[in-house]
Amino acid sequence: MAALKRMPPRSEPAATNRFVSRIPEGDTERSFDPPFRKILIANRGEIALRVILACKELGIQTVAVYSEADRDALHVRFADQDICIGPAPSAKSYLNIPQVIAAAEVTGAEAIHPGYGFLSENPHFVDVCQACGIVFIGPNSEIIRMMGNKAQAKATMKAAGVPLLPGSDGVVDTVEDALAWGEKIGYPVIVKASAGGGGRGMRIVNGPDEMSDMYNTARTEARAAFTDDTVYMEKYLLEPRHIEVQILGDLFGNIITLGERECSIQRRHQKLIEESPSPALGPELRQRIWAMGLRAARAVGYFNAGTIEFLLDARGEFFFMEMNTRVQVEHPVTEMVSGVDIVKEQIRIAAGQKLEYTQEDIALRGHAIECRINAEDPFRCTPSPGRITALNFPGGPGIRMDTAMHQDAVIPPYYDSLVAKLIAHGRDRTEALARMRRALDTLVVEGIKTSAPLHRLIMDHPDFISGNFSTHWLEVYLAALEKERAEVH
Ligand code: ADP
Repeated sequence: MAALKRMPPRSEPAATNRFVSRIPEGDTERSFDPPFRKILIANRGEIALRVILACKELGIQTVAVYSEADRDALHVRFADQDICIGPAPSAKSYLNIPQVIAAAEVTGAEAIHPGYGFLSENPHFVDVCQACGIVFIGPNSEIIRMMGNKAQAKATMKAAGVPLLPGSDGVVDTVEDALAWGEKIGYPVIVKASAGGGGRGMRIVNGPDEMSDMYNTARTEARAAFTDDTVYMEKYLLEPRHIEVQILGDLFGNIITLGERECSIQRRHQKLIEESPSPALGPELRQRIWAMGLRAARAVGYFNAGTIEFLLDARGEFFFMEMNTRVQVEHPVTEMVSGVDIVKEQIRIAAGQKLEYTQEDIALRGHAIECRINAEDPFRCTPSPGRITALNFPGGPGIRMDTAMHQDAVIPPYYDSLVAKLIAHGRDRTEALARMRRALDTLVVEGIKTSAPLHRLIMDHPDFISGNFSTHWLEVYLAALEKERAEVH
């Protein structure tokens, strides 16, 4: 390569000098050794790209793995190296542990970032990484195993003094036991898969007459989804809000919180819109919920990035629901208000570096909202895979778009329908909402249907604007929209 001549430093014109003094001392340029030389990303889509971006900033080489359906994907294009690990179905590619490990070994990757989903919460995978001398970017397998079994996680939290919903102590093995717990807890109750995730293996039971059917369906669904059909039960809250606390911990026992996220806009128990801070919390409740998130994390000696999920009832009481031992889909809203790059911190922590921040360093600024853009019919929620024929990404102040979409990309039918996350940040919630509206107005995705039109309607809804909603709000709103449409036709 032709040697580039080093340019002599340009002297600043006198007129701009008065601004220079506003840069805090010592805040010019930080240099540090890259935590790793090379990382393999065991994921696809926007999160694989998100990890690649963090690695580029840290000066780390990247290896992409991909299935035959993802040959032309952006994470493959932007990684330094890439390896095909199998055919389209996840079980044969992104979940194929021997193939992922072989790819890391062949390329000499020192660490694996699992993203979310796929192998990210698989303790066996973490053990295999360790046995092969590869660093897993996340907590250890013991913590993942403990938190992955929700019944066990609840028992651990109970012992630590974290508030729980009334529920069965551990798993419920028979319909008779389920009926006995139903009487004790009081209806409605929810039957949940111990290995649950993605809203699967959950059934609401309104009274004893429904128990047998619902209990058995939850178990069947759990067996199919997780090959583990154990279930537990807890009180079903009627109008709760889903509030979660972001945690970062290092290997030296430092644990901090980056605040909460409000994730109550859901359908089929799946999040669609997230924001930070939550419009439902006053300063006192916020402090209590953060403190409980920290207590939960400390109880298991947590390290790396993690999230404690709570349900908040109308009286301001909140209860532990589960802990996710990985980066969350919705981590960007926290990044926007905290200024902390969570993925970079994950990598640094895994390399044994100390947290760059103390709790006192964390000053949350403004408000951020994220809309999940899914490849689906916005009102029927049915998948809409296909080729993207035209695209325009919104921009302007306060807008961030995390996506792996590109012109002519083919969205395959095999994976999660999330194709982009549109994030708006503003000085306050009103400004964030205004920015989200104009971003949605200039977002163009043609060739497939997306959830964007639904987001645009929600952004104008008085309940959303006032912050007055629970986890059921969206389903009620969708039913109302459906009725309206039926009347028109
Ligand atoms: P998953 O891990 O499958 O996503 P979660 O336990 O996180 O399941 O629950 C997902 C959503 O289901 C919650 O955000 C909430 O809307 C609903 N939910 C779960 N448990 C309860 C409960 N006890 N009462 C009311 N809603 C619940």
